[in-house]
Amino acid sequence: MRASDVIGRLRERGVVLVPGAGDHVVVRGSDDVLTSEVRAALSRNEPAVLAALAVEYDGTPGPCVRCGRAAWAEYGAERMPSGELACGDCVLPGDVEAGSVPLAGARENGP
Ligand SMILES: [Zn+2]
Repeated sequence: MRASDVIGRLRERGVVLVPGAGDHVVVRGSDDVLTSEVRAALSRNEPAVLAALAVEYDGTPGPCVRCGRAAWAEYGAERMPSGELACGDCVLPGDVEAGSVPLAGARENGP
């Protein structure tokens, strides 16, 4: 199974995978899904998972902090006041109230 398929299957079960510091993958999800076997397999295949994530994010500003998918400006991604990105599916009304900025709008109105 390719790393991108593994990422897809884990996401279907609510797991978030994002690149972290030092060539590591940050993994968040329920313990029901992230068993010690799954965590060990992810750890063994970390370089392949990172490479697959890099391919997915190519041409985008980066990953959504909430779901780990690419945050496409064209699909409503916003940048939070913290600097983190949220994809269009994950932006919440509270984010907008807190001052998040649409990436597309930021580009159009930028300097
Ligand atoms: Zn998202």
